[in-house]
Amino acid sequence: MHSDPPETRDALGRALRDLRISVTDRCNFRCPYCMPAELFGEDHKFLPRPEILTFEEITRLTRLFVGLGARKLRVTGGEPLVRAELPKLIRSLSEIPGVEDLALTTNGSLLPLHAGKLADAGLRRVTVSLDALDEEVFRQTSGSPHPPSRVLQGIEAAAAAGMGPIKVNCVVQRGVNEDEIVPLARHFRGTGHILRFIEFMDVGTRNRWELTKVVSAKEIIERIQAEFALEPVGANYDGEVARRWRYVDGAGEIGVITSVTNPFCSGCTRARLTADGELVTCLFANSGLDLKQPLRDGADDEELLRLIRGTWGGRRDRYSEERAAIGKAERPERIEMYRVGG
Ligand code: SAM
Ligand code: SF4
Ligand code: SF4
Repeated sequence: MHSDPPETRDALGRALRDLRISVTDRCNFRCPYCMPAELFGEDHKFLPRPEILTFEEITRLTRLFVGLGARKLRVTGGEPLVRAELPKLIRSLSEIPGVEDLALTTNGSLLPLHAGKLADAGLRRVTVSLDALDEEVFRQTSGSPHPPSRVLQGIEAAAAAGMGPIKVNCVVQRGVNEDEIVPLARHFRGTGHILRFIEFMDVGTRNRWELTKVVSAKEIIERIQAEFALEPVGANYDGEVARRWRYVDGAGEIGVITSVTNPFCSGCTRARLTADGELVTCLFANSGLDLKQPLRDGADDEELLRLIRGTWGGRRDRYSEERAAIGKAERPERIEMYRVGG
């Protein structure tokens, strides 16, 4: 039995329940919607090593967030598996009292190498991103040096290490990979893994997002239903962002994340910690609160808690609900996805 977590509520009454921890701003892929190759070339300056939080610093801050009510942790990036010795961090995070769920989001390409060590370190859940099965479309959506089969091997390696069922996330972009929806559904039906389709979002300012590039959850479901009968299923827990559907013939379930057509800001309980130690309270924020400097200047826990509480307490973010009302020209600078962590 879990005791009730402490309550730290924002200005709209939302508790702090989840922490997404970005462990690096680097990645071995160049998905055009996140790190377009033309902007993230050889000469791109990633964060210098000293700017990146150490594992000890991440663990200390995470403990404080857990003390304020965070119960679910997700390690992300950039690509978290390019950070050396990640299993050490996983071990430390999994040992924090009060953590009820620890997961990792990855592009999957390095899972064949690391799944066993991650599982040994206490990781039980992995989400793998995969936007296409077709080799050419995959190359286009990921800028990856690997074929999609490498990601599929990563999924199987994670399942074999005991981290199944695996959630597989596909971001759907009109004119790019909408024809991959049905092949992906067909591939993962009956495997026990849970495929989830995500509406393409206007995160950051460099991915040339337009509403016309969004394929709605409704259309995604219709496309799959044309081939396989689906029926809706209720949420697993309050605040679950994916709408769940199951195959009528019992071949498993899928999810759709309606971030654009049906936003869920009113239930958004997520805080984000960037690799260089900023607390960010919304995926669409234009800045965050620097926790690294006070941490390195010797602030004690009380001082850091005061800073985090103060920022969360003033949180009024509800960008996705306001999106429609915001004119294109008014969209301010925003933190890029590879920094804020998906
Ligand atoms: N590198 C890891 C990966 O790709 O899974 C973790 C970080 S990545 C930023 C996290 C997730 O954000 C990925 O599933 C990616 O597809 C998703 N993502 C990135 N840009 C997006 C966008 N504009 N709209 C929707 N999802 C996006
Ligand atoms: Fe890398 Fe993930 Fe961004 Fe793709 S979405 S460029 S895999 S961080
Ligand atoms: Fe949460 Fe911001 Fe996304 Fe709304 S737009 S669900 S507040 S991260």
